[in-house]
Amino acid sequence: MTQVAEAPAVVDLRSDTVTRPTEAMYARMRSAPLGDDGLDADPTARALEDTAAAMLGKAAGLFVPSCTMGNLLAVLAQVQRSEQVLLEAQAHMLNTERGAATLTGAFLLGIQGADGAMDLDRLEAALHPSASPLRTALIALETSHNAAGGTVLPVDHMAAVAGIARARGIPVHLDGARLFNAATHLGVPPAELTAHVDTVSLCLSKGLSAPMGAVLAGDAAVIAAARRLRKMIGGTQRQVGVVAAAGLEAVTAMGARLAEDHARARQLSDGLNALAPRLSATIPQTNIVQVDLARTGRDSARWVEDLESAGVRTRPLGPTRLRLVTHRHITAAAIDRAVAAFRTCLDAA
Ligand SMILES: *Cc1c(COP(=O)(O)O)cnc(C)c1O
Repeated sequence: MTQVAEAPAVVDLRSDTVTRPTEAMYARMRSAPLGDDGLDADPTARALEDTAAAMLGKAAGLFVPSCTMGNLLAVLAQVQRSEQVLLEAQAHMLNTERGAATLTGAFLLGIQGADGAMDLDRLEAALHPSASPLRTALIALETSHNAAGGTVLPVDHMAAVAGIARARGIPVHLDGARLFNAATHLGVPPAELTAHVDTVSLCLSKGLSAPMGAVLAGDAAVIAAARRLRKMIGGTQRQVGVVAAAGLEAVTAMGARLAEDHARARQLSDGLNALAPRLSATIPQTNIVQVDLARTGRDSARWVEDLESAGVRTRPLGPTRLRLVTHRHITAAAIDRAVAAFRTCLDAA
């Protein structure tokens, strides 16, 4: 077949969830040993659970269809009705998922913070016996922090929260949907971060590029409880090794390239900040950039439309901001096209 010159594809900056499986993933999916995971285990799912748990420094792992389900199971397995969970006020588990708050009978209390990190004095105050009639059964962290623009919790902060929690016998869960991005930014293995938490959920279908799935990891007893609960909420699947095979490739091979996504995000941020003062972009630690549109005279819905017409897909973040996420399909040339599209839309006003 002759190669036809094509118009450049759309630059899709909506999310790193749009990433497609790699050729190596398809190869592993085709050859994966399979079983019935609900009946007597799927060997590829078990291999993924064991591999991911080891990388996260935990005794056991559980493959789940999504990171949302991993977070929900972490709460279900460790929190009773009328107990409370403390987490940062902008946490994904609190503001986006809401399931743990509405489906479990647990109360989720947001603690104000900065850059995704809870204020430690406020955390201590919320734990004081006089602060609430409810027992706190879990504290949850998030790194990188989605709503805070992909910021990474300092290791000192994670250690401080762990110290506060352990002194009171409270387990810590980490919503580590983008944990590998956080570890990449800090230049440490993921297990160095998860050493400060009891359970962790890791999303396989964001920058790591698997088509679906997440792993919840923790000690054997919590994961056994989560495995029973997973069945109750319909998360137990059958020949799930087909997709767990892609997950194995994701955890073992795809973390190493995330630094590229971070470099692309920085390139994007620099390009947009060159359009100041009309636009201002956050300086990313990982692969998420937030753009402030307040001085452009157009709201985020209008910007999303205008950029779409110029071949760039974005998502609104409230009325005056956009959220842009870099990933494996975004090249340096694509960033140049995106920045050019912003400039064109600005000048067209
Ligand atoms: C995306 C995300 C999730 C949910 O992941 P899914 O696999 O889409 O359910 C949870 N937490 C954070 C911080 C996220 O960014």
